[in-house]
Amino acid sequence: MSVEGGEEMKIDPSRAAALSSAIKSIQQRISTASGGRQVRLVAVSKLKPASDIQALYNDGQRHFGENYAQELMEKAAILPKDIRWHFIGGLQSNKAKPLTSSVPNLYLVSSVDSSKKATQLSKGRSEIPNAESLNIHIQINTSGEESKSGVTPGPEATELARHVLSSCPNLNLVGLMTIGAIARSQAVKEGEENEDFKTLVEERDRLQQELKQELGDRKLELSMGMSDDFEAAIGMGSDEVRVGSTIFGERPKREDFQVKAKAEESKS
Ligand SMILES: *Cc1c(COP(=O)(O)O)cnc(C)c1O
Repeated sequence: MSVEGGEEMKIDPSRAAALSSAIKSIQQRISTASGGRQVRLVAVSKLKPASDIQALYNDGQRHFGENYAQELMEKAAILPKDIRWHFIGGLQSNKAKPLTSSVPNLYLVSSVDSSKKATQLSKGRSEIPNAESLNIHIQINTSGEESKSGVTPGPEATELARHVLSSCPNLNLVGLMTIGAIARSQAVKEGEENEDFKTLVEERDRLQQELKQELGDRKLELSMGMSDDFEAAIGMGSDEVRVGSTIFGERPKREDFQVKAKAEESKS
């Protein structure tokens, strides 16, 4: 999965048109669901080629989400420097520092679930001269499934939030994120509320109250909602939705993925 920067990226015009039309339809659905309230759309580009990202960038999209540190670093190196990268995947402590120190335009890390990782992210960010604080979300495990990462709502979340606010000078706590249980989300019927989203809303309200002193006027935001449930999430107050497959189509298997398609590389 190696890439070289510098050469021009080839974008297939019909692919670009399909992506543009897909994202416009998502934007339309977001604006209908939000009634005009500002909701950030993160286009989740994991396992999709850099040329797809460039095509959507040319179309005006700036926020892109990635799940793998190595893949994000490789893409960031060859794509425009004003892209706002979101890291949304499971973060390994040993990748936290290199990721932040090598990608100045890393905008938000949504998957912070331990004090150790928060400290590493803050240290990495401090190595970039004149950088603003790095935005982070604390990931909350709202479904209680052991397979999901994130901290448990309650004292564990409070403790991590306190750590970020008091001991991570280069981080900016902007809110909470959940992935939620897929099965639960699909089982939610029209007119019913998704329990994961409800839990995240309650946890945000609780933290906002409990950390009143530390937070001051700052309002914690909510990142919840993906391809299958982003409209429901917006209905429950989400400030950020992370949409992948509905924009880009189904993802390839991770082992089959390359930042640049083989066909592109072999063209001269
Ligand atoms: C992959 C991923 C998404 C996007 O999922 P889609 O169902 O493809 O929209 C959103 N959030 C996280 C954390 C993800 O890993």
